[in-house]
Amino acid sequence: MTRVASLVDELTFDEKLELIHGTADPDGMATGYIPPIERLDIPPLRFVDGPLGVRVEGESATAFPASIALAASWNPDLAHKQGMAMAREARAYGQDVLLAPGMNIIRVPHGGRNFEFYSEEPLLSSRVGVGYIEGMQSAGVIAVVKHYVANNQETNRYAVNAEISERALREIYLPPFRAAVEEANVGSVMPGYNRVNGTHMSDHEFLLSDVLKGEYDFDGFVVSDWWGTESTVGAATAGLDVEMPGDTDPYDDLFSGDADDSDDSSIELPRGMGESALFGEPLREAVGNGDVDEATIDEKVRRLLRTRDRFGHFDDERSDGALDTPEHRRLARRIAVEGTVLLQNNGVLPLDDDTTVALVGPNADTAKLGGGGSSEVSPFTRTSPLNGLREHATEVLFERGVPPIAESSLFDTAGSNSNESDSDASLDAAVTAAETADCAVVVVQDDATEGTDREDLRLPGGQDELVARVADAADRTVVVLRSSGPVELPWAEDVDAIVASWYAGQADGDALAAVLYGDVDPGGRLPVTFGRSAADYPTGDEAAFPGIDDEARYDEGIFVGYRYFDREGTEPRYPFGHGLSYTTFEYGEPTVERDGDHIELTVPVRNTGKRRGSEIVQVYVHEDDLALPRPDRELCGFTKLRLDPGERRHASVTLDRDALAYYDEDDGWTVPVGSFTLLVGRSSRDVRGTATVEM
Ligand code: BGC
Repeated sequence: MTRVASLVDELTFDEKLELIHGTADPDGMATGYIPPIERLDIPPLRFVDGPLGVRVEGESATAFPASIALAASWNPDLAHKQGMAMAREARAYGQDVLLAPGMNIIRVPHGGRNFEFYSEEPLLSSRVGVGYIEGMQSAGVIAVVKHYVANNQETNRYAVNAEISERALREIYLPPFRAAVEEANVGSVMPGYNRVNGTHMSDHEFLLSDVLKGEYDFDGFVVSDWWGTESTVGAATAGLDVEMPGDTDPYDDLFSGDADDSDDSSIELPRGMGESALFGEPLREAVGNGDVDEATIDEKVRRLLRTRDRFGHFDDERSDGALDTPEHRRLARRIAVEGTVLLQNNGVLPLDDDTTVALVGPNADTAKLGGGGSSEVSPFTRTSPLNGLREHATEVLFERGVPPIAESSLFDTAGSNSNESDSDASLDAAVTAAETADCAVVVVQDDATEGTDREDLRLPGGQDELVARVADAADRTVVVLRSSGPVELPWAEDVDAIVASWYAGQADGDALAAVLYGDVDPGGRLPVTFGRSAADYPTGDEAAFPGIDDEARYDEGIFVGYRYFDREGTEPRYPFGHGLSYTTFEYGEPTVERDGDHIELTVPVRNTGKRRGSEIVQVYVHEDDLALPRPDRELCGFTKLRLDPGERRHASVTLDRDALAYYDEDDGWTVPVGSFTLLVGRSSRDVRGTATVEM
């Protein structure tokens, strides 16, 4: 008998129930806690939040850039390194499971948690997420991929039903989760708060049992989102294994106000907070009266213990971890640099060392760590743009221009922490500073948190006017955009350069200065399309987002993100995959080799500029003879190159598994016979060469 089988054999029914729902962590540190069974040497299990860093109550940890910034690096190796570093920090705090990564597709540009997710593109999300999970799990911590599936908005998040075709689920929303299971062997999966086609995700037998555990052969455990368990019998039989947080209210002292007294109705709190566990007494009763088999309980316990066994929880050989090491600090900075996207540049960047700078921006003297909610991390160290630039520039004048922008949080039920009364903000002073210095650097930001979506895609708090006024006054204007995703940029034509640094984490200012002064090439490319306005996206009407009568219709089907812009013929402000470099690249003729299902595209790329730079070679597939509607082009592979001036190298891109296939609701995954055009280039719209492949 295996160790796990004999443990299941020896556990009493009461002990089994204790293992499949949470309770309060006696140390008050973990986000979720399962008590030990000392009699059988089963240690406690501690879950802690990510995905931007480790969020241990009252403690500090490395604050990495937001997930969307990591994705903007298009560098799965960096994701692997971040996963490892986070696992080490989690171990340093005695934590076993990290509630990360978030691999939901960015469907709604307003999404309050977009910064916690990777991309509108399933392949990019998968590649980054697989790297992250593999890194994390290689360092001994169980990853929880979340929030399975079609959990794409915060508005009405506890009730919304995503009404969605199976094809869209299979081609767009499921692939990152499938990759997490099939490629990265993720230890745990968290269903979302939402419903899909009428059924709550915790109760979704088709998606949990048939697809995840059946088709994908997931052998880990399914853990609920916090208070995200809809029912006892339904969830227990559908495939939910562990209920969190169980008999406890770990957020109790996190929320600064009483939910009922809150005057900020835009942030919703979970239903059933503070109620007792559905997988506690109610599950005992359900087994007692025959609604749930005891074998079903055993299977949940087996899945949990099997995963724990795989991660060495019953052997005493786990690493002690490491916290805030120089390596982790460097990594946080490197990801911030590689995730920074140079959106436009008329030559003003990089700045010369002797350029005097007017740094303008309501929050430019604070690092932008992340958005609000369960991913908040408190770092040991942080650098603001002001500090970062002061390290480089001969002279920096600082003016806010407008009062600080709120940084709202799910935990801040009494509203946001904006400081509207801040008296040192003056638009006129910002304009004067901009006139005086050689270059104005304007740092602007949005405000995003778990629990609510952004109201619109405009920058809050008069920042648009601030940029316009400064651009008018300054000789040269560089805008630094700290945002959770796309924002409207009405002044884009009036400024000299725009840099998107997302939420750059603890190294914010340091990374920014390195990019602005050209110590490094900004390595990022857009993981989301920047439209000109919210109406450009498929979620422009109310039925699609936020939905009517608790239903959000996904009628755009597979046409999400750039797939939608292409279908509609809408010119985005910046296309998916876009990002400039300080150098230039020349592409040669691409060639394709096919050996059965293995397709590899090779293309020579030369750095034709004067600086070392990085290039992300992107390959998109277009099917020539369509049997059914398909996107004009879909990302099917990419690779990142670093080239010295004059250097020429061959980039090789192996096409991803289902790259050429589509999902037919009758026949399943299908690779059509016929010819495909592979488009090779710098973005989804900047194509530098094509090649054909016949299937
Ligand atoms: C979030 C999860 C998070 C959990 C625990 C929920 O509100 O949706 O992503 O892991 O809380 O903090």
